[in-house]
Amino acid sequence: MNNEQHKFFLYARKSTDVEDKQVRSIEDQIAELRAFAKQENLNVIDVLIEKQSAKIPGRPIFGEMLKRIEDGEANGILAWHADRLARNSVDGGRIIYLLDTEKLASLKFPTLWFENTPQGKFMLNIVFGQSKYYVDSLSENTKRGLRQKVKRGEYPGPAPIGYINDSRTKSVVVDRKKAKIIRGAFELYAEGNSRLEDISNFLAQRGIFSRGGKRIHKTRATFILSNPFYTGLFKYGGELHEGKYEPIIAKKIFDKVQEVLKQRGRPHHKTKYEPQDYCGLMKCGTCGMSITGEYRIKKQKNGNVHDYIYYHCTKKNKAVKCPESCIRQEELDKQISSLLQKFSLRSDWAEKLLAMAEADKEKSTQSVSAFVLESQNKIHAIQTKLQRLLDGYLEQDIEREIYRKQKTKLLLEKKSLAEKMARIEQKQNDWLEPMREWIKVASNLVKIARDSNLQEKKVAAKEIFGSNLRLASRAVRGEPVFPYLSALRAAESIGKIPESLILVRDAGVEPAAFAV
Ligand SMILES: [Zn+2]
Repeated sequence: MNNEQHKFFLYARKSTDVEDKQVRSIEDQIAELRAFAKQENLNVIDVLIEKQSAKIPGRPIFGEMLKRIEDGEANGILAWHADRLARNSVDGGRIIYLLDTEKLASLKFPTLWFENTPQGKFMLNIVFGQSKYYVDSLSENTKRGLRQKVKRGEYPGPAPIGYINDSRTKSVVVDRKKAKIIRGAFELYAEGNSRLEDISNFLAQRGIFSRGGKRIHKTRATFILSNPFYTGLFKYGGELHEGKYEPIIAKKIFDKVQEVLKQRGRPHHKTKYEPQDYCGLMKCGTCGMSITGEYRIKKQKNGNVHDYIYYHCTKKNKAVKCPESCIRQEELDKQISSLLQKFSLRSDWAEKLLAMAEADKEKSTQSVSAFVLESQNKIHAIQTKLQRLLDGYLEQDIEREIYRKQKTKLLLEKKSLAEKMARIEQKQNDWLEPMREWIKVASNLVKIARDSNLQEKKVAAKEIFGSNLRLASRAVRGEPVFPYLSALRAAESIGKIPESLILVRDAGVEPAAFAV
C-alpha cells in the first residue's frame, strides 16, 4: 500500500493514568512520531493532542478526530501504540468499524506493525482487547486491595482534619494538636448558640484551613461536624465500618451536634431584603405583571410592634394603571393550600394508578424483550454470513469486488439493527418515571397543603399550575397544566382507561376536584 496517497492525523495522548507513568512524555511522543512520519514518508495533515485517559469512552479530541475521518478529511492515524487509541471496547470498536467501512485506510504505530487486512484487523482487535483487559484487571485489583484494607478496619483514603496518614505504617493516626481543635469545634457547636460561620472562625483563628489554604466554608464545616469518622466509624462503599484508629469525639457529643445541625438547618424567618416564599408564583389577574412579597414592620402608637408579610402586584405595566390591592401572607397561604387540596389525589386511587402503570410497563417490557431477542438472532445470523463470506474470499472462491459489496451491505444491516435495539430499549422507560413522579406529587398534596412549609407548597403549585396562577381581588385562581389535568381525568375514570394514562389528552375539560 502506498502511504503517500494517505492523509494522516498524528494523535498523541498524555495520560494521567497511574499505569502509564513509564510512557513517554507528550513532547517525546510527538518528536518520535514526526521522525517516524518522515522516515516512512507519511503525509501528516494535523497534530491532535489529548489530555484524557482512554479507559472510558468520550475523549473529546479522539471523538473529533473520528468525526473528521468520517467526513473524509484524512484516512490514516499515526499514534505511538494502539493502546494510545483505545483502552475501552467502545472506542476500539469504532476504529475497527472505520477500517471495515474503509473510511480509515491506514494505521501507523512505531511500536506495532499493522496491516489493513482481515488478519491485521483481527490482530488489532486483540491488541485493543489486551489494553482493555489490562485496565479492567488493574481497577479490579485496586478495588480488591482497598476492600481488604477496609475489612482490616483501615481507612483507605486521605485522613480528615485531626488525623494524619502515617506513610510508614500505612495507617491513620491522631494529629494531637489539630484533634484538640476539632474537639473544641464540636463542643462549641454542641452548645447550640453558634452558627456555622462561627465554627469557621473558630477553626481559622486556630490555624485550621482547607487544603487550598482557604477558610473552611459552611458546607465544609457541616461536613466536618457530621463526619462519623471522628467517633471511630468510617464510610466506605456506602457502608459504615469500624475503624482501627483512635476516635477523638465521644458519641454523645457527636449526637448532640447532629441534633443542633438539624435544628439550625430549618428554614429561618426571612428578613426584609430576602425574597418571600410565594414570590414569582403568580401573575396579577388585572395587568399581568408579577406578584411580589414584602416584609413590613408596623409600630402602633401605644408602642406595640407588628410585623407581617404581604403580597402585591409590582404594577410595572405602563399601559395599565393597576388598581389591585395587597394580600397578607396568611390569607394567601390559606388559599394556595386549599387549591392544592382540591387537586390532590386520593391515596387509594394513587395506588391503583401506580399498579396500572406497572402492569403497562410489564407488558411493554415483554414485547421489547421479544424484539431484542429477535434482533440478536438476526445479528448473530449476519455474523455467521460475514464469517462465511470472509472464508469464501480467503479461499478465493469470491471476487474481491463482490466480497467488499456484500460485506458492506451486511455490516450496514448489522449496525442499523444494533442502533434500533438501543433506541427501543432506551425509549421503553421514558414514560413510566414521569408518571410515577406525578402520582407521588399528586398523592402528597394533602400532606403538603396541611404543612407549614411554604417553599414546598410553592414547588407543588408550580408543578400543578405551571405559570397559570392569577391573583385578582385578593383571590388566587388557576388551571392545572396539561399532563396534570389529563392524569386527573384518568384517575377519575379508573377502571375505564386501560392503556398508558399519561398519553390520554383531554383538552378543554373542566378539572375534576378530588378533595379528601
Ligand atoms: Zn396588577
